[in-house]
Amino acid sequence: MRGCVTASIDWRVSMQLSQRLDDLRESGLLRQARTMRPSANGWCEVDGQLLRNFASNDYLDLAHDERVIAAAREALDEYGVGARASALVCGRSEWHARLERRLAEFEGTQDAILFPTGYAANVGTLSALIEPSDTVFCDRFNHASLIDGMRLSRARLRVYRHDRLDTLRRELMAGKTTGHKWIVTDTVFSMDGDLAPLTEICDLADQSGADVIVDEAHATGVFGPSGRGVCELTSTEDRVAVRIGTLSKAVGTQGGFVAGSSELIAWLRNSARTQVYSTALPPAICAAAVRSLELIQSEPERRTRLFQLSDLLRAELRRFDLNVLEQSHGPVIPLVLGDPDEAVQAARLVEQQRFLVAGIRPPTVPQGTSRLRISVTAAFNEQDIRALAVAITRAVSELTMQEKT
Ligand SMILES: *Cc1c(COP(=O)(O)O)cnc(C)c1O
Repeated sequence: MRGCVTASIDWRVSMQLSQRLDDLRESGLLRQARTMRPSANGWCEVDGQLLRNFASNDYLDLAHDERVIAAAREALDEYGVGARASALVCGRSEWHARLERRLAEFEGTQDAILFPTGYAANVGTLSALIEPSDTVFCDRFNHASLIDGMRLSRARLRVYRHDRLDTLRRELMAGKTTGHKWIVTDTVFSMDGDLAPLTEICDLADQSGADVIVDEAHATGVFGPSGRGVCELTSTEDRVAVRIGTLSKAVGTQGGFVAGSSELIAWLRNSARTQVYSTALPPAICAAAVRSLELIQSEPERRTRLFQLSDLLRAELRRFDLNVLEQSHGPVIPLVLGDPDEAVQAARLVEQQRFLVAGIRPPTVPQGTSRLRISVTAAFNEQDIRALAVAITRAVSELTMQEKT
């Protein structure tokens, strides 16, 4: 690039990086971020092509809602863009306070605290709460940010198989653990779209004296009669010690949060390093999230529609004999293909038919389970869904034909 300074990284490191990048390229695992221009009604533009976006986590179609944008714009004019400092220094505006109150009301907890992202909420909360002498039981498919938070806590980590609560039970009861016991789980698994068996997990926690920490990232706004998530759906809200969520998915904005007891929140405010040592969210984002939460409560039909469309897509794909993961439930619909190349090619063939879907490869999913991950949003209608099912079916049969020849 013209005018670009050659960075003075050690030549051995530089060689190593280029070797590793080559390895990734050769195994079909090199990833590149493309530039995407979102527009209203679920469409987006990628490489000059208009596509219907089925790779978005904006499940309720609120990121582009005029009322949410207006709320952000108003606060933007009044407060400027950046928050200027972390919350404890001077970055917490009236909008942050209002959003934290709203989140506590929404979740029905004593208090709530904001983080810059859901990722930061998980890392900061787990590392502030779990002691090195504790033992953490972790689902194998938990989100990377939960894993990183547990690693930072330096506690003993016990990973249990996603579909094997019996191993969790055995290990919890084995009596070989030290310190306090924690069970940490996603409530909706982001790549399989299935739900954690929270009732059974809470029962096991009761029997073994463990505390449960859940990440509702894909569930907030989507699951439960009022959209509070899988804890609400399974009536386990008063059995879970810590509820973590994100504002960046169905809420359509940005940021993470934790809802819980006053004591828990006060502790996190004082000690969660990703919150203490990071600049607070922009006030305008908080204003947008307040408005968005109001809409999640006042327009439950968005949720109903989301589930109707998701169920329709699942049924259509199965009608064409495609291998939709049995256990997926709600808007995340995985279609396992196997090879990373297949997933990438299938995504490209679907894209040629003007639908954007994600091709997901290791390390995000285990080897041999590369897949198309389709996420449905309330922006679409039944016609879009039927057309998408046809596009995917065409793509997959084209791939199969290519393999045969
Ligand atoms: C997306 C996601 C996060 C991270 O949330 P961000 O707000 O995007 O940082 C955390 N946990 C799970 C399960 C997720 O899917």
